[in-house]
Amino acid sequence: MNFNDNIQEDGLYPRATLSDGLGRVHTSLRISVTDRCNIRCFYCMPLENVEFRPREELLTFEEIERFVRVGVLLGIRKVRLTGGEPLVRNNLSKLVEKLAAVPGIEELALTTNGILLAEQAVSLKAAGMQRLNVSLDSLSEATFQRISRRSGLQRILDGIFAARNAGFENIRLNAVAIRGLTEAEIVPLAQFSREHDFELRFIEFMPLDAENRWQAEQVLTCAEIRRVLEQQVCSLVPKPRNDPSQPAVDFTFSDGCGTIGFINPVSEPFCSSCNRLRLTAEGQVRNCLFSTTEWDARDLMRSGGSDDQLRELIRDCVMNKLPAHGVGEADFVKPLRAMYQIGG
Ligand code: SAM
Ligand code: SF4
Repeated sequence: MNFNDNIQEDGLYPRATLSDGLGRVHTSLRISVTDRCNIRCFYCMPLENVEFRPREELLTFEEIERFVRVGVLLGIRKVRLTGGEPLVRNNLSKLVEKLAAVPGIEELALTTNGILLAEQAVSLKAAGMQRLNVSLDSLSEATFQRISRRSGLQRILDGIFAARNAGFENIRLNAVAIRGLTEAEIVPLAQFSREHDFELRFIEFMPLDAENRWQAEQVLTCAEIRRVLEQQVCSLVPKPRNDPSQPAVDFTFSDGCGTIGFINPVSEPFCSSCNRLRLTAEGQVRNCLFSTTEWDARDLMRSGGSDDQLRELIRDCVMNKLPAHGVGEADFVKPLRAMYQIGG
């Protein structure tokens, strides 16, 4: 039987549950739309001689839409576009329009470095994009350049405010925290977010850099950042955790002004409640950021595979998810791909 035989009277499909061997139900899909980027963050990309995938290897918008339609029938509810830098993919709003029209998606979100946001915020909003995460590690141009090996902080700030003016609410700012580099950014980022009413999240530096320079000592943990904030800004009150699969641990400032979250994949892994699946820009399905195995959805789609076969491929990928990423364990194997090639 084909999926299409299953349409209900209301036009929607009955949903399956995409569960792995440990009962983790997968409802969230991260789609990388490109491996290209307009900056070169050291924790993600190499500085020079980057080998990008040729255009014809990337999934087309039609292939991405097909994958999402099948994923939604399996229980996917949240879709996030990422990259590389998603806004460098030509006509991204066209893809957003297609995905926004897929019945059953409850949240359509984008993670961006913000550099092209001022130009694209209005069209993204009009196309149906609902939520934005903007990466902002630093409010100092010098530190921004040390991290990204490019200039452009002001363009990001302009992009964030342009997005707000375009109607995006609850914009979240994501900051990777790195010992020896971004300690001085903690308080200014918190104050900026409080002043302008943005949600701020600190993310621990993970071993997914292209230059293989990650060291455990560079991980600036949530506990340390909390201490700084409580000493220099305001005490923090834990927020109730409504969604157990949410990776962030959230707090409100006790004076009622602002919220802050921490994503601690290294010091406090959240693998046991992970609900995410990933699709790389060239159509490989991954069950974990740190996975060393991929399932080739592009080959299946381009060789005439059916939606049922695609569904089985996704199921198989999820079923083979390991219990935990193993970072810090003696037998940890760093994936061959770096963050920009996977999609963060
Ligand atoms: N280019 C977009 C951006 O930077 O927001 C989207 C892709 S980027 C890979 C997604 C997120 O991953 C960003 O917030 C980035 O800071 C984060 N990231 C990249 N490499 C990382 C690493 N090694 N450890 C932790 N976070 C990382
Ligand atoms: Fe580009 Fe994002 Fe990677 Fe930075 S983190 S190099 S902005 S893809």
